[in-house]
Amino acid sequence: MLYHIVTYGCQMNVHESEKIAGILKKEGGELCPDIEKADLVVFNTCCIRDTAEKRALGNIGALKKRKRENKDFMIAVLGCMTQQEGFAEMMREKFPFVDIILGTNNLHLLPYYIKLKDKKNSVDIDRANGGTYDVNLTSDTFRTSFPNAWVNIMYGCDNFCSYCIVPYVRGREVSRPPKDVLNEIKFLLDEGYKEITLLGQNVNSYRYEDYDFKRLLAEAGNSGKKFRLRFMTSNPKDFDKDVIDVIKSSDNICKHIHLPAQSGSDGILRLMNRKYTAARYLDLVLAVRENIEDALISSDIMVGFPTETEEDFSQTLDLVKKSRFSQAFTFVYSPRSGTVSAKMEDVGAEVKKRRITELIRVQNKITKEISEGFKGLTREVLIESAEGDNFFGRTDNGRVVTFEKSNGFKIGDFVNVKITASKSSSLTGTPL
Ligand code: SF4
Repeated sequence: MLYHIVTYGCQMNVHESEKIAGILKKEGGELCPDIEKADLVVFNTCCIRDTAEKRALGNIGALKKRKRENKDFMIAVLGCMTQQEGFAEMMREKFPFVDIILGTNNLHLLPYYIKLKDKKNSVDIDRANGGTYDVNLTSDTFRTSFPNAWVNIMYGCDNFCSYCIVPYVRGREVSRPPKDVLNEIKFLLDEGYKEITLLGQNVNSYRYEDYDFKRLLAEAGNSGKKFRLRFMTSNPKDFDKDVIDVIKSSDNICKHIHLPAQSGSDGILRLMNRKYTAARYLDLVLAVRENIEDALISSDIMVGFPTETEEDFSQTLDLVKKSRFSQAFTFVYSPRSGTVSAKMEDVGAEVKKRRITELIRVQNKITKEISEGFKGLTREVLIESAEGDNFFGRTDNGRVVTFEKSNGFKIGDFVNVKITASKSSSLTGTPL
C-alpha cells in the first residue's frame, strides 16, 4: 500500500506525522511522495489557526471525485481538528466519502481501520487519553529529518490562554515518564542523530513524580555525547532562573530560547490569561542575556487581539524593541470557536493589517541588525541539509548559515564557519 501524508500546523504535528508514517511502515506501507499515486492519503490536521483548517478541508474536498471513481482509494483524517466538538458530525454530513477519522490519541488504531472492510466514515476519538499510545513507538517512528529528531516530553496543556483551542482539543497536560524520554534520546544518539528537540505545548511545566523540567533537561543534556539539545515551547510564566542555570552549565543545550511574549501590554496579557506581565517578561530576557553568553531569544507576537488599543499596540512594539528578538513569528489574531476570546470585541481587519505591517517592519530591522553582528565571527554550524552546491545549517543559537559544499563535509557534521555576509535572518560563510 502506498501512502501519502499531508501535514498542517506546527512542529508537534510534523513529528506526529513521523509517528503515523512509522505505524504504516510497520504494516508494510510505503511512503509515496506523489499524492496522485497513493492508495491512502492521510491528512494530519491542525485547528490552531483558521487558515490551516480551511486549507485542510479544501484539500480533503478535492479528493471527492477520485474517491467516487476508485472505491479502493482511502482517505483518513487525523490530527487535532478531529478532536473539536461537532467535527465528526460535520464530516459525516459534508464529507461522507472520508473513510477514517481518528483523534490524536488514537493514531495507533489506523491499521485496524484500514483493514476494516466496511469503514463507512469510521470515527474513533478519545479526548481523555493523552499520548499513551507512544510508549512503544520510539524505534518505530519513521524519521526523515536527520540529523534532527524530535522527542515529545508531554502532551496537552492546562493553561487555557483565552485565544487558544489546544487545551480543548489536546486535553490536559500529560508528562511522559522521564525513563521513556531519556531512553528515546539515547536511542537517537546511538543512531547518530546530532540534534534533539524536546517538544511540548508548555515544556516548563513538565512534571513526572520527582522530575521537573529542569531535572529532565539537565539529564537529557548530559547524555555523554556531543550533540545539540533544544526545547520548545516555553510559557514565560513557567520559565525561570533555574532553567537558565541548567542551559548555562551544559555544553549540549543550545543557547537559543523560544519564549512567546504574545503582547507587551499588561491589559492584553491579562485578557489573554497569560499570567505574566511585560515587566516579568523583560526581566527574563535580561536574565538570559546576563547569564548565557551569545544567547539569542525568539518569540511569537500577536496583534489585533480583541479590544487592543493603539496604546496596547505601542507597548507591544516597545517590548519587541527592548527584547531584540533574533526572530519573531508575527501573526494576526483570529478567533477560534469555543475559546473565551472568541466572544470578545474584534478590532477589525484594517487595524490588524496596519499593526502587523508595522510590527513586521520593526522586527525585520532588528533581525537584520542581529545578523549583521555575526559578520567576521567564527561559529560552529551543524550541517542540516544540502541543495545544489550549498550546505545549510544552524549555529548553536539558531541562526541559519549557508556555505558552499567543500572539504568532504556531509549532513550531520559540525563545522567551524567564518561568517562573511548576512541577509535578513540568514548568514553566509566559509568553512575553516
Ligand atoms: S500555553 Fe497557552 S497558547 Fe500555549 S498551548 Fe497552552 S493554552 Fe495554548
